[in-house]
Amino acid sequence: MTDADNRSQAFAEAEEPPSTTYIAGNKALNGRPVRAAPPVRESFPMGPGAKAFRKAFFPDVDAMQWADWRWQLRARIRTQAELERIFTLSDDERSAVVRHNGSLPVGITPYYASLMDRHDASDPLRRTHIPVGQEYLRVPGEADDPLGEDHDTAVPGLVHRYPDRVLFLTTGTCSTYCRYCTRSRMVGEAGGEYSFSRSQWESALAYIEAHPKIRDVLLSGGDPLTLSDDKLDYLLGRLRAIKHVEFIRIGTKVPTVLPMRVTRALVRVLKKHHPLWMSLHFTHPTELTPEVAKSTSRLADAGIPLGSQTVILKGINDNVPVMTELMQGLLHHRVKPYYLYQCDPISGSAQFRTPVEKGIEIIEGLRGHTTGYAVPQFVIDAPGGGGKIPLLPEYLVGRDGDDLLLRNFEGGVYRYPDKGGTLGADRVVPAQYLKDL
Ligand SMILES: *Cc1c(COP(=O)(O)O)cnc(C)c1O
Repeated sequence: MTDADNRSQAFAEAEEPPSTTYIAGNKALNGRPVRAAPPVRESFPMGPGAKAFRKAFFPDVDAMQWADWRWQLRARIRTQAELERIFTLSDDERSAVVRHNGSLPVGITPYYASLMDRHDASDPLRRTHIPVGQEYLRVPGEADDPLGEDHDTAVPGLVHRYPDRVLFLTTGTCSTYCRYCTRSRMVGEAGGEYSFSRSQWESALAYIEAHPKIRDVLLSGGDPLTLSDDKLDYLLGRLRAIKHVEFIRIGTKVPTVLPMRVTRALVRVLKKHHPLWMSLHFTHPTELTPEVAKSTSRLADAGIPLGSQTVILKGINDNVPVMTELMQGLLHHRVKPYYLYQCDPISGSAQFRTPVEKGIEIIEGLRGHTTGYAVPQFVIDAPGGGGKIPLLPEYLVGRDGDDLLLRNFEGGVYRYPDKGGTLGADRVVPAQYLKDL
């Protein structure tokens, strides 16, 4: 690890004992003081996959330790040797891991590794976390910072692109590193200008304080939930103290890849700072485990509205059946599908990127066919800093006099009497719909 990573790591994980709860209070008994009950670690559900995996690869780790998020962070699988102990690496994976240096290191929590196929390099979750040679391929149109975030950076770590809201990059640490990361330039072992130090936080807070138009602050990174409870409490408290900040949300993958981080103590901290919303990163239905059910229900029970964000990834989740299962599963977990992203053209991402039609096809396969709440907004985050631009299947067929012609999810054409309207007037009604008129 570089010094920069050590620094950011220390900032993320320092100064907090393992989360503890007490069996009973330490009230005086018959007038005599009783010693405090010994701390016990919180238990957390463990799905069948994780149970078998723990027995096989971490036999000395008991269920309580497995359920300790700090242990999960310390035990992250990072090196070739650690990967080889668990996975049958393909030659492609092995040489990509050996070749890697710089930012976006390999890092997988034991819990998340337990969801991956150990012998099949094409396993969806494994492809998103173990690098392959194509990660080093550069194709035209790609960039290290395709969204031009550095350009929209108001003060280090604060991206101010939209008039009323900011993106606050709180840390460079994640619990797992996605190979398609949009901020690969600054996470893990980046260092340099991306310090994520306390003084960087203070200058971001000062900027927000000085700009009354900012009513919405999105905490991201890195992953804000890798910060200690105390640091989160501090940051949320400081933001809440700013009168014009109405809306705070946290963008995180932790409830998915490190669900045991959602301790009762964390939830108590978050609840103090309502209204607080969260956007959770999900990729594939395999992620919807009993552990994740616990993390999302704790957050939802704490009154935190949950939205999801999913990146469309080639060969991983780029089809209607997988997305339908994921979106319906999210509703079951009390998460409203929010954004479906076209994969950003980050350097090395060609292996993951699908044609834009894919996203439209997925939305078309969802809308009308399943619960409306299960349909996210498909967006392209425009390269060069244009922000998120929504794309929809074309439901507007054309016009016939005063009538607007609309196509429904089954392909039937319907008229709406839109007197005086001009929408669709310039369209030639495609031949396939003429038969319905
Ligand atoms: C995505 C994003 C936001 C939040 O956008 P919403 O559409 O409000 O969810 C804010 N700032 C930046 C720079 C973003 O990329």
